[in-house]
Amino acid sequence: MNAPSRSVCVYCSSSDNVSEALHAMATAAGSGLAERGWAMVYGGGSVGLMGSVARAALAGGAHVTGVIPDKLVDRELALDDVTELIRTRTMRERKQIMDERSDAFLILPGGIGTLEELIEMVSLRQLGYHDRPIVILDGDGFWAPLQAQMARMAEHGMLHAPMGSLWTAAPSVDAALAALNGAAGADERPDR
Ligand code: AMP
Repeated sequence: MNAPSRSVCVYCSSSDNVSEALHAMATAAGSGLAERGWAMVYGGGSVGLMGSVARAALAGGAHVTGVIPDKLVDRELALDDVTELIRTRTMRERKQIMDERSDAFLILPGGIGTLEELIEMVSLRQLGYHDRPIVILDGDGFWAPLQAQMARMAEHGMLHAPMGSLWTAAPSVDAALAALNGAAGADERPDR
């Protein structure tokens, strides 16, 4: 298989206790990524929203790479059907591979792991370590409290870049996919 030209890293919840509405949003995101020709990189599990977005992307014909540490293969029920499953020794290796293989980042609702991954990428973007687009799919206002916290940091002069330059919050799957597709440089792999 040819190497895909554009690859998006998806961060989202690994919990199975989330609403059907969020699963539907994740499924729509996965289908939409496939339709628009994106390859996907994610944490490799079959659980939670991670599983929903990956299964939908695969069903739509996308190249899906899962990256999962050995220790989490059972806990997150590694998805056997992915196009490529990379097993790592550590969490750090997982993050590094996901980073290296991605041209953009799409964040769906998630818990502490998702938040940690999102904030790391935003922090590195703020410091100029990368300029790849970060798109937050915020369909039901899930991420509104985080956006409010960012606005508060901006008010107090604690952000080092305008808030709007750090990420794009999209109110729907279509808007998120448009933001990813419209993002400057999405066809080029920036130096990092
Ligand atoms: P959560 O949002 O807590 O359900 O976690 C979503 C995904 O993030 C899961 O696959 C976690 O294993 C993963 N995750 C949690 N912490 C980290 C981390 N420090 N680095 C990379 N992935 C992580």
